[in-house]
Amino acid sequence: MSTTTSPNILKNARIAVLGYGSQGRAHALNLRDSGLDVVVGLRPGGPTWKRAEADGFAVVEPANAVRGADLVAVLTPDMVQPALYKEAIEPNIKPGAALLFAHGFNVHFKQITSRADIDVVLVAPKGPGALVRSEYERGRGVPALFAVHQDVSGHAEAKAKGYADGIGGGRALLIETDFKEETETDLFGEQAVLCGGASELVIAGFETLVEAGYQPEIAYYEVMHELKLIVDLFYEGGLTKMLQFVSETAQYGDYVSGPRIIDAGTKARMKEVLNDIQDGTFARNWTAEYAAGLPNYKRLKQADLDHPIEQVGAKLRARMPWLQPAPTEAAKAPL
Ligand code: NAD
Ligand code: MG
Ligand code: MG
Ligand code: MG
Ligand code: MG
Repeated sequence: MSTTTSPNILKNARIAVLGYGSQGRAHALNLRDSGLDVVVGLRPGGPTWKRAEADGFAVVEPANAVRGADLVAVLTPDMVQPALYKEAIEPNIKPGAALLFAHGFNVHFKQITSRADIDVVLVAPKGPGALVRSEYERGRGVPALFAVHQDVSGHAEAKAKGYADGIGGGRALLIETDFKEETETDLFGEQAVLCGGASELVIAGFETLVEAGYQPEIAYYEVMHELKLIVDLFYEGGLTKMLQFVSETAQYGDYVSGPRIIDAGTKARMKEVLNDIQDGTFARNWTAEYAAGLPNYKRLKQADLDHPIEQVGAKLRARMPWLQPAPTEAAKAPL
């Protein structure tokens, strides 16, 4: 673990940022405000081209951004990166330049095999792009992971740290990792706990109450709406703060009933999920699903969108003025 303050090795480098979504916009703006030279690469007519131009960037097609760049940051959605690499990056990236990812999926699972004459590094801020930007603007930063996969220049680590500094991570905390650890822990977290685990827990709780005859509106408040209060306490102060702020009754119920819900069987199945991530089963299934046009993904997503908790939730949220208008980018935190 470290923070960095030494002069930035990227001081005279040209940085191409491919993608201008959650991470891309935040990185590009922070790097520029750190005095670095940034060009943005996007598909012509893509949804974010105008936004990048409005922010004052030179915007060109990805292949043109890559030509002449000393560092290429790949900040498009993960599933479009292999084709982008083949078409725009591989034929154009300078020998000795660095290719940078914010998530290790494609490199670790060999969806992208990088040319042997470039550095390959990772810088993954531990927060959504909006926070990476807003913290930077306040003179602070969001902690970031960094890793080196391939070092041909002898400076790959310095480049990764220089980039992490440029986006503000070095002001907070830089944690060294490798592509395997970043990829597998990221996938496990979102599948077992954050997206998969939490949503199934909420749905099961909602269904249990509604099937027992309680009003769906009240079930919604108890198992979905109020989850935010608890998660905010975790976020700010861990279990300690949560336990400090809930009643003694809630605490006692937590101690005796929580382990009846999440038990040794749950943990055993978490290990199976982790195993599927580690041995490549999940990556193989996901890339095949994507290539097939997302049939299961679309069906499963629709089932979530059609769940009764969504109807009752929409109705109730419309009556909570502080939730209007819909939360912006800050709430969109792709994992
Ligand atoms: P996003 O979906 O918010 O933005 C994607 C951007 O790429 C958009 O500007 C889009 O127009 C552009 N794009 C799409 N297809 C393209 C193509 N073929 N060529 C050029 N541009 C294209 O993406 P994001 O959430 O910022 O994720 C980017 C990377 O950052 C991913 O690797 C992701 O895993 C990683 N990451 C995201 C977060 C996060 O909080 N969002 C956190 C850590 C890491
Ligand atoms: Mg789910
Ligand atoms: Mg309550
Ligand atoms: Mg993720
Ligand atoms: Mg993540």
